[in-house]
Amino acid sequence: MTEEIIVLRPACPKCGVSKVIPIPKSVFAQKTFGFIKIQVPQGACCEEHQFIVIADTKGRIIGYEAIDLSVSKEEEELPELEIKSEVKFPLQYLINKLGFNSVAGLLHAKLFKYDSFIIKSSETDISLEDLNDYYDYLIPEPYKNSIKIDSVDYDDQIFPNPGYFYSLVTNQKTKAFLFNPRKHIVQMPWRTNLYYETHIINFALERKDPKEQTKIISDSITRFINDSEFAKTILEGVKKITEKDFMKTLDEKLTLTTINKYRMALTKEFLRRRVSVDLLKKIKK
Ligand SMILES: [Zn+2]
Repeated sequence: MTEEIIVLRPACPKCGVSKVIPIPKSVFAQKTFGFIKIQVPQGACCEEHQFIVIADTKGRIIGYEAIDLSVSKEEEELPELEIKSEVKFPLQYLINKLGFNSVAGLLHAKLFKYDSFIIKSSETDISLEDLNDYYDYLIPEPYKNSIKIDSVDYDDQIFPNPGYFYSLVTNQKTKAFLFNPRKHIVQMPWRTNLYYETHIINFALERKDPKEQTKIISDSITRFINDSEFAKTILEGVKKITEKDFMKTLDEKLTLTTINKYRMALTKEFLRRRVSVDLLKKIKK
Protein backbone atom coordinates (compact mmCIF):
# COMPACT_ATOMS: atom_id res chain seq x y z
CA MET A 1 0.00 0.00 0.00
CA THR A 2 1.42 3.36 -0.94
CA GLU A 3 0.85 6.31 1.27
CA GLU A 4 -0.25 9.61 -0.22
CA ILE A 5 2.41 12.25 -0.10
CA ILE A 6 2.61 16.02 -0.24
CA VAL A 7 5.67 17.46 -1.89
CA LEU A 8 7.31 20.36 -0.09
CA ARG A 9 10.08 22.44 -1.61
CA PRO A 10 11.73 24.10 1.36
CA ALA A 11 14.64 26.51 0.92
CA CYS A 12 17.30 26.63 3.62
CA PRO A 13 16.92 29.95 5.46
CA LYS A 14 20.68 30.15 5.94
CA CYS A 15 22.12 29.35 2.53
CA GLY A 16 19.13 29.35 0.20
CA VAL A 17 19.57 25.83 -1.18
CA SER A 18 16.22 24.33 -2.09
CA LYS A 19 15.16 20.71 -2.43
CA VAL A 20 12.02 18.69 -2.94
CA ILE A 21 11.06 16.73 0.17
CA PRO A 22 8.11 14.33 0.14
CA ILE A 23 6.03 14.30 3.33
CA PRO A 24 3.31 11.71 4.05
CA LYS A 25 -0.10 13.32 3.83
CA SER A 26 -0.99 11.74 7.17
CA VAL A 27 1.37 14.20 8.87
CA PHE A 28 -0.91 17.03 7.81
CA ALA A 29 -4.11 15.11 8.53
CA GLN A 30 -3.31 15.04 12.24
CA LYS A 31 -4.24 18.68 12.42
CA THR A 32 -7.13 20.53 10.87
CA PHE A 33 -6.16 23.98 12.02
CA GLY A 34 -2.99 25.99 12.51
CA PHE A 35 0.53 25.01 11.56
CA ILE A 36 2.66 21.96 11.37
CA LYS A 37 6.36 22.11 12.10
CA ILE A 38 8.60 19.67 10.33
CA GLN A 39 12.21 19.27 11.26
CA VAL A 40 14.55 19.13 8.28
CA PRO A 41 17.78 17.46 9.35
CA GLN A 42 21.20 18.38 8.06
CA GLY A 43 21.76 16.85 4.64
CA ALA A 44 18.05 16.58 3.77
CA CYS A 45 17.83 20.01 2.11
CA CYS A 46 21.35 21.46 2.08
CA GLU A 47 24.56 19.88 3.27
CA GLU A 48 25.31 22.17 6.17
CA HIS A 49 22.22 23.25 8.04
CA GLN A 50 19.21 21.89 9.81
CA PHE A 51 16.05 23.89 10.28
CA ILE A 52 12.32 23.69 10.88
CA VAL A 53 9.84 24.28 8.09
CA ILE A 54 6.45 25.60 9.13
CA ALA A 55 3.55 24.63 6.87
CA ASP A 56 -0.19 25.08 7.06
CA THR A 57 -2.55 22.11 7.12
CA LYS A 58 -2.73 22.09 3.30
CA GLY A 59 1.02 21.68 3.06
CA ARG A 60 1.75 25.26 2.02
CA ILE A 61 5.03 26.53 3.43
CA ILE A 62 4.61 29.66 5.52
CA GLY A 63 8.00 29.99 7.14
CA TYR A 64 11.16 28.66 8.70
CA GLU A 65 12.85 28.52 12.04
CA ALA A 66 16.54 28.05 12.42
CA ILE A 67 17.89 25.40 14.77
CA ASP A 68 21.13 26.41 16.36
CA LEU A 69 22.45 23.46 18.30
CA SER A 70 25.84 25.04 18.21
CA VAL A 71 25.03 28.70 17.94
CA SER A 72 27.88 30.04 15.90
CA LYS A 73 30.04 32.71 17.43
CA GLU A 74 29.35 34.87 14.42
CA GLU A 75 25.66 35.16 15.22
CA GLU A 76 26.15 35.59 18.91
CA GLU A 77 28.56 38.38 18.41
CA LEU A 78 26.29 40.66 16.44
CA PRO A 79 25.85 43.47 18.91
CA GLU A 80 22.70 45.54 18.54
CA LEU A 81 24.78 48.69 18.68
CA GLU A 82 26.68 47.84 15.56
CA ILE A 83 23.41 47.73 13.69
CA LYS A 84 22.93 51.41 14.28
CA SER A 85 26.34 52.22 12.83
CA GLU A 86 26.61 54.25 9.66
CA VAL A 87 27.02 51.34 7.25
CA LYS A 88 23.71 49.88 8.40
CA PHE A 89 24.15 46.29 9.43
CA PRO A 90 26.26 43.30 8.50
CA LEU A 91 24.84 41.08 5.78
CA GLN A 92 24.64 38.16 8.20
CA TYR A 93 22.24 40.14 10.38
CA LEU A 94 19.87 40.61 7.44
CA ILE A 95 20.09 36.92 6.56
CA ASN A 96 19.37 35.91 10.16
CA LYS A 97 16.30 38.13 10.18
CA LEU A 98 14.84 37.55 6.72
CA GLY A 99 16.41 34.36 5.41
CA PHE A 100 19.02 34.00 2.69
CA ASN A 101 16.65 33.80 -0.26
CA SER A 102 14.58 36.81 0.77
CA VAL A 103 17.78 38.85 1.06
CA ALA A 104 18.81 37.72 -2.44
CA GLY A 105 15.28 38.29 -3.76
CA LEU A 106 15.17 41.85 -2.43
CA LEU A 107 18.40 42.60 -4.24
CA HIS A 108 16.83 41.35 -7.46
CA ALA A 109 13.65 43.37 -6.83
CA LYS A 110 15.59 46.59 -6.24
CA LEU A 111 17.92 46.12 -9.20
CA PHE A 112 15.23 45.14 -11.68
CA LYS A 113 12.55 47.44 -10.28
CA TYR A 114 9.88 45.11 -8.96
CA ASP A 115 7.49 46.11 -6.20
CA SER A 116 8.22 44.21 -3.02
CA PHE A 117 6.24 43.70 0.15
CA ILE A 118 6.95 42.11 3.48
CA ILE A 119 3.79 40.39 4.75
CA LYS A 120 3.87 40.86 8.49
CA SER A 121 1.55 40.32 11.43
CA SER A 122 3.48 42.33 13.97
CA GLU A 123 6.25 44.87 14.01
CA THR A 124 9.41 43.41 12.55
CA ASP A 125 12.64 44.43 14.16
CA ILE A 126 14.06 45.72 10.90
CA SER A 127 12.44 48.96 9.86
CA LEU A 128 11.38 49.38 6.25
CA GLU A 129 13.40 52.55 6.15
CA ASP A 130 16.62 50.77 7.17
CA LEU A 131 15.90 48.00 4.70
CA ASN A 132 15.32 50.45 1.85
CA ASP A 133 18.42 52.42 2.78
CA TYR A 134 20.54 49.30 2.83
CA TYR A 135 19.53 48.21 -0.66
CA ASP A 136 19.46 51.68 -2.19
CA TYR A 137 23.01 52.13 -1.00
CA LEU A 138 24.01 49.18 -3.21
CA ILE A 139 22.42 50.46 -6.41
CA PRO A 140 24.14 53.27 -8.34
CA GLU A 141 22.56 56.41 -9.76
CA PRO A 142 20.29 56.90 -11.62
CA TYR A 143 18.70 53.57 -10.65
CA LYS A 144 18.73 53.93 -6.86
CA ASN A 145 15.64 54.95 -4.91
CA SER A 146 13.42 54.04 -7.83
CA ILE A 147 11.30 51.52 -5.99
CA LYS A 148 10.45 51.09 -2.31
CA ILE A 149 10.11 47.96 -0.24
CA ASP A 150 6.72 48.20 1.45
CA SER A 151 4.61 46.10 3.79
CA VAL A 152 1.26 44.32 3.86
CA ASP A 153 -0.30 43.86 7.29
CA TYR A 154 -1.50 40.39 8.06
CA ASP A 155 -4.14 40.04 10.76
CA ASP A 156 -4.16 36.48 12.08
CA GLN A 157 -7.41 37.12 13.97
CA ILE A 158 -9.26 37.68 10.72
CA PHE A 159 -7.25 35.16 8.72
CA PRO A 160 -6.24 32.28 10.98
CA ASN A 161 -4.80 30.45 7.99
CA PRO A 162 -1.74 32.31 6.65
CA GLY A 163 -1.55 30.14 3.51
CA TYR A 164 -5.02 31.37 2.57
CA PHE A 165 -4.12 34.98 3.26
CA TYR A 166 -0.96 34.64 1.15
CA SER A 167 -2.96 33.38 -1.80
CA LEU A 168 -5.26 36.42 -1.50
CA VAL A 169 -2.24 38.74 -1.58
CA THR A 170 -0.59 36.92 -4.50
CA ASN A 171 -3.85 37.20 -6.46
CA GLN A 172 -3.90 40.91 -5.82
CA LYS A 173 -0.23 41.71 -6.28
CA THR A 174 0.63 39.43 -9.15
CA LYS A 175 3.80 41.27 -10.18
CA ALA A 176 5.33 41.89 -6.77
CA PHE A 177 8.01 40.12 -4.79
CA LEU A 178 6.38 38.93 -1.56
CA PHE A 179 8.10 37.55 1.52
CA ASN A 180 7.49 37.28 5.25
CA PRO A 181 9.59 37.73 8.41
CA ARG A 182 9.54 33.94 8.82
CA LYS A 183 12.19 33.74 6.12
CA HIS A 184 9.77 32.53 3.47
CA ILE A 185 9.34 33.82 -0.08
CA VAL A 186 5.62 33.93 -0.80
CA GLN A 187 5.95 34.97 -4.44
CA MET A 188 8.72 35.66 -6.95
CA PRO A 189 7.32 37.52 -9.96
CA TRP A 190 10.31 36.95 -12.27
CA ARG A 191 11.39 33.89 -14.20
CA THR A 192 15.14 34.26 -13.96
CA ASN A 193 16.57 32.56 -10.91
CA LEU A 194 18.71 34.14 -8.22
CA TYR A 195 22.13 32.66 -9.13
CA TYR A 196 23.64 36.09 -9.66
CA GLU A 197 22.41 37.57 -6.40
CA THR A 198 23.24 34.37 -4.48
CA HIS A 199 26.74 34.42 -5.89
CA ILE A 200 27.55 38.00 -4.94
CA ILE A 201 26.00 37.65 -1.48
CA ASN A 202 28.12 34.56 -0.79
CA PHE A 203 31.16 36.37 -2.13
CA ALA A 204 30.47 39.36 0.13
CA LEU A 205 29.97 37.05 3.13
CA GLU A 206 33.62 36.06 2.87
CA ARG A 207 34.33 39.49 4.33
CA LYS A 208 33.35 40.43 7.86
CA ASP A 209 33.38 44.21 7.59
CA PRO A 210 29.92 45.54 6.58
CA LYS A 211 31.59 48.28 4.54
CA GLU A 212 33.62 45.80 2.56
CA GLN A 213 30.52 43.64 2.08
CA THR A 214 28.48 46.48 0.62
CA LYS A 215 31.41 47.51 -1.58
CA ILE A 216 31.69 44.04 -3.08
CA ILE A 217 27.99 43.95 -3.88
CA SER A 218 27.76 47.49 -5.22
CA ASP A 219 30.89 47.04 -7.39
CA SER A 220 29.37 43.93 -8.93
CA ILE A 221 26.06 45.67 -9.54
CA THR A 222 27.78 48.67 -11.07
CA ARG A 223 29.60 46.39 -13.48
CA PHE A 224 26.38 44.59 -14.36
CA ILE A 225 24.66 47.91 -15.05
CA ASN A 226 27.58 49.20 -17.13
CA ASP A 227 27.48 45.98 -19.16
CA SER A 228 23.73 46.35 -19.63
CA GLU A 229 24.08 49.95 -20.74
CA PHE A 230 26.67 48.85 -23.27
CA ALA A 231 24.21 46.21 -24.50
CA LYS A 232 21.68 49.01 -24.88
CA THR A 233 23.98 51.03 -27.16
CA ILE A 234 24.55 47.96 -29.34
CA LEU A 235 20.81 47.47 -29.79
CA GLU A 236 20.32 51.16 -30.49
CA GLY A 237 22.86 50.93 -33.32
CA VAL A 238 21.22 48.07 -35.22
CA LYS A 239 17.92 47.47 -36.99
CA LYS A 240 17.76 43.80 -36.07
CA ILE A 241 20.23 41.39 -34.53
CA THR A 242 20.02 37.69 -33.84
CA GLU A 243 20.33 36.65 -30.21
CA LYS A 244 23.40 34.65 -31.14
CA ASP A 245 25.18 37.63 -32.71
CA PHE A 246 24.10 39.88 -29.85
CA MET A 247 25.62 37.48 -27.33
CA LYS A 248 28.76 37.09 -29.43
CA THR A 249 29.26 40.86 -29.71
CA LEU A 250 28.79 41.37 -25.99
CA ASP A 251 31.12 38.52 -25.15
CA GLU A 252 33.83 39.99 -27.38
CA LYS A 253 33.52 43.59 -26.21
CA LEU A 254 32.93 42.97 -22.51
CA THR A 255 36.24 41.36 -21.79
CA LEU A 256 35.70 41.09 -18.04
CA THR A 257 32.33 39.38 -18.30
CA THR A 258 31.41 35.99 -19.63
CA ILE A 259 28.17 36.27 -21.53
CA ASN A 260 26.41 32.97 -21.11
CA LYS A 261 22.69 32.28 -21.51
CA TYR A 262 21.95 33.19 -17.92
CA ARG A 263 23.81 36.50 -18.07
CA MET A 264 21.98 37.21 -21.35
CA ALA A 265 18.63 36.58 -19.66
CA LEU A 266 19.56 38.95 -16.83
CA THR A 267 20.72 41.63 -19.26
CA LYS A 268 17.49 41.36 -21.23
CA GLU A 269 15.48 41.55 -18.03
CA PHE A 270 17.33 44.71 -17.06
CA LEU A 271 16.74 46.31 -20.46
CA ARG A 272 13.07 45.31 -20.40
CA ARG A 273 12.45 46.54 -16.85
CA ARG A 274 14.72 49.56 -16.82
CA VAL A 275 15.24 50.79 -20.37
CA SER A 276 12.72 49.92 -23.05
CA VAL A 277 10.56 46.97 -24.04
CA ASP A 278 10.73 48.08 -27.68
CA LEU A 279 14.50 47.88 -27.77
CA LEU A 280 14.31 44.15 -27.05
CA LYS A 281 12.10 43.64 -30.09
CA LYS A 282 15.22 44.18 -32.21
CA ILE A 283 16.56 40.83 -31.05
CA LYS A 284 15.59 38.05 -33.44
CA LYS A 285 15.23 34.54 -32.10
ZN1 LIG B 1 21.77 25.62 4.30
